[in-house]
Amino acid sequence: MLEDKNPHRTQLSELGEFKLIEHLTQNFSITQKSTIKGIGDDAAVLSFKNKQIVITTDLLVEGVHFDLSYVPLKHLGYKAVIVNLSDVYAMNAIAKQITVSIAVSNRFPVEALEELYAGIETAAKIYNIDVVGGDTTSSTSGLIISVTAIGEVEEGNEVLRSGAKPNDLLVVTGDVGGAYMGLQVLEREKEVFKVNPNNQPDLSMYAYIVERQLKPEARKDIVELLEKLEVKPTSMIDISDGLSSEIIHLCKQSNVGVALYENKIPLDPQVISTCEEFDIDSTTIALNGGEDYELLMTISQEDHPKIKGNPNLTVIGYITDQNNGMYLVTRAEQKIPIIAKGWNALTS
Ligand code: ADP
Ligand code: MG
Repeated sequence: MLEDKNPHRTQLSELGEFKLIEHLTQNFSITQKSTIKGIGDDAAVLSFKNKQIVITTDLLVEGVHFDLSYVPLKHLGYKAVIVNLSDVYAMNAIAKQITVSIAVSNRFPVEALEELYAGIETAAKIYNIDVVGGDTTSSTSGLIISVTAIGEVEEGNEVLRSGAKPNDLLVVTGDVGGAYMGLQVLEREKEVFKVNPNNQPDLSMYAYIVERQLKPEARKDIVELLEKLEVKPTSMIDISDGLSSEIIHLCKQSNVGVALYENKIPLDPQVISTCEEFDIDSTTIALNGGEDYELLMTISQEDHPKIKGNPNLTVIGYITDQNNGMYLVTRAEQKIPIIAKGWNALTS
């Protein structure tokens, strides 16, 4: 399958902790003005002048958040960075630095960590951030990665989950459900591979959704787009757990209700066809599948002309009074209460 096929295995003990850190971080250079001191001292030094700082952290645990039998380490490193940057962009902020901490068992050779760090380096380059520190320790079994991201936002430009108002439009970026269906395809291929290891799967017809799962992107472009359009959302959140649960977070924190229209939810044709193949309802996947890392926001009606027709932004509903509750309006115009399942609930 998609395994890293590096034939060399250098034991971690051959390098030792300090050489290992030096080796893994040797390609990281400092590009951000706000980074005064990066890797190599007791702490990093940053300077943001009069900007506000956002900070967010995520922990990824082998066997819980990722399965190395089909996730290449390079992709894992990339994704560990992306999931954090996504949280920074969801605040309407721009990410500037990250720290990366790993706990690793000695079943991983140095070459495996090189792959992981190659993915981290790629993400850092593409999203224009500095890696300014971290920690390295051993683990008795699997791999654990923790990334912390630091970003900046002009005072007053931050967007919280709590600002949605009745009549605001509910807007989502990109399309949803792809990452979850990509995972279904990968899980199926893993089972096939167990039975017949010589079977090389042809995933080309699932390329988009597999990429959504293995190599997600964070929507930095949307933060830039909103600035250009002069639209400040009233509330915003990133979609890590599925539309339903993120909509519920926004509504609860803003004390409002919502009407979400099933026929407006943006789905890629590959999500629709793969849902048909797996005999799953695509709306269920859009609502409860996870890991799309799109942004969900509310904008005031008066900003509608500014976003109308933009292919990146789809209006999928509107905000109501809290008393009206949270509803999905189906294609048959039935009203169904929105409940949070979370994407884990789908697999159990
Ligand atoms: P300390 O003993 O103070 O924890 P370390 O030897 O762990 O220091 O770290 C030395 C430097 O390397 C620090 O700047 C630290 O932030 C950085 N560093 C350690 N581990 C990592 C890692 N996995 N990725 C990136 N930087 C790291
Ligand atoms: Mg340390």
